[in-house]
Amino acid sequence: TKNAIVIGSGIAGIASAIRLQLKGYAVTVFEKNSYPGGKLSAFKSGEYRFDAGPSLFTMPHFVDELFELAGKNPRDYFQYIKHDKSCHYFWDDGTKLEADSDVKKLSKKINEIFQVSPSIIEKKLKKAAHINSVIGDLFLEQSLHQVKNFLNLKTVKAILKMGGLDIHKSLHQANQDDVKHPKLVQLFDRYATYNGSNPYKTPGIMGIIPHYEHNIGTFFPTEGMNSITTSLVKLAKDLGVDFIYNKQVDEIVLDESQKQVKGIIIEGNFLQANLIVSNMDVYFTYKRLLPKIKSPQRTLSQERSSSAIIFYWGIKNEFPELDLHNIFFSKNYKEEFETIFDNKSMHSDPTVYINISSKIAKSDAPKNSENWFVMVNAPANEGQDWDTLINETRKNIISKINYVLKTNIEDLIETEEILDPRSIEGKTLSYQGSLYGTSSNSKFAAFLRHPNFKKNIKGLHFVGGSVHPGGGIPLCLLSAKIATSYA
Ligand code: FAD
Repeated sequence: TKNAIVIGSGIAGIASAIRLQLKGYAVTVFEKNSYPGGKLSAFKSGEYRFDAGPSLFTMPHFVDELFELAGKNPRDYFQYIKHDKSCHYFWDDGTKLEADSDVKKLSKKINEIFQVSPSIIEKKLKKAAHINSVIGDLFLEQSLHQVKNFLNLKTVKAILKMGGLDIHKSLHQANQDDVKHPKLVQLFDRYATYNGSNPYKTPGIMGIIPHYEHNIGTFFPTEGMNSITTSLVKLAKDLGVDFIYNKQVDEIVLDESQKQVKGIIIEGNFLQANLIVSNMDVYFTYKRLLPKIKSPQRTLSQERSSSAIIFYWGIKNEFPELDLHNIFFSKNYKEEFETIFDNKSMHSDPTVYINISSKIAKSDAPKNSENWFVMVNAPANEGQDWDTLINETRKNIISKINYVLKTNIEDLIETEEILDPRSIEGKTLSYQGSLYGTSSNSKFAAFLRHPNFKKNIKGLHFVGGSVHPGGGIPLCLLSAKIATSYA
């Protein structure tokens, strides 16, 4: 049998391992951490359980697909429910919107609060569905870089010339044109952050993103986001995949012709492999694992996506006005993004996202308490004075929450853990701690992401948030699908 080595057990690495094992490879996954999942992992802090990274689960069928491919019933491994509420939005002037996923309900509520005609919101979300129907499959479900897809590439180019996709406007401009009301523009602008981009720069075609949240819906894994990782690891193990933890791969070895992979070096030992899938950030894959070959500078020098500062707070109180997902908007969104992407710093009035999984999974927090995952967008790590920035940001977040919720949150914080761009980079080896690989702050970003394989080197494949088609759980799962389809 042929054997494959997967470097890293992020969600894309696990999905690749499952797919390759099902294709007949004997697969071993090497993971530098003592646990699987990379960004998609979990931890306990006192009596509170926290998901460390992702909190929003969309397109669960991409997870189910892996169980089905293996001939298993997904429900024997992994449970999730649909969550009808999309998000509770708060503005400093006291405006509140408890947004439903359902488009009709959402439009009606927006009409009541903002006096904006329901047809405007319905049209906006129809447009999102339209963008998805035109470009979704082409961009996301296949490689843009294989010769046999050349025809598709031509189709892509033709499509980009079509109207109605807002490719030549910024997302902000498109939202401004479509919904006009400044608070709703801000609401639709925020979707740029779902791939770590700047709404004032990312193309309007990103207006596709609310399609997933509102036309398809958001979901909640009943045992937490981390159960996506644990259930897929269980499936992989049931299929015979070998997971080896606490082992960092040091090098990818090529044969003399430099045209075929031969194996890896780990702790000074050579291990043979017919196929290698790197789930390590593509930047570090070239810089650390392939130092002898010329790296694609243009691809690797792309602007990184944003990073984040996260405070995981055990809160000894319950807040009925909050839901699973909550947003406290900044007063000046434009300035906030300029501070992050241009000044590479933290804004004094940041938009604060609070995720509370214990709203649904009661056992995630003690009685009458809640597990708050409090996240603000941050620039990629370029050696800023993070200790100072974290202290200032913590104060700014607390005063914003106190102001909007009329509380004294600091007195209620029972446990605290912090994640920042440095620790994100250190824990998962993501260059500059970016959450989603490279940013999509240009029209050409989709074409500039690294492909899922390497032309001229047989047996070398790339998966995960730093390569095609991009970051976030669904796209990472798709990267594994595309990469292994060429195995
Ligand atoms: P990663 O999670 O980056 O893992 C890579 C793994 O490889 C790590 O475990 C690392 O230790 C290992 N590794 C690297 N190099 C080596 C080596 N040389 N040898 C051995 N092991 C190695 N996405 C969503 O869909 N929804 C969200 O709500 C969301 N929110 C997020 C919030 C935060 C705070 C973060 C950090 C991310 C969020 N994301 C979200 C993005 C999502 O988490 C990522 O896109 C996705 O999990 C990345 O998966 P990956 O396969 O690229 O691997």
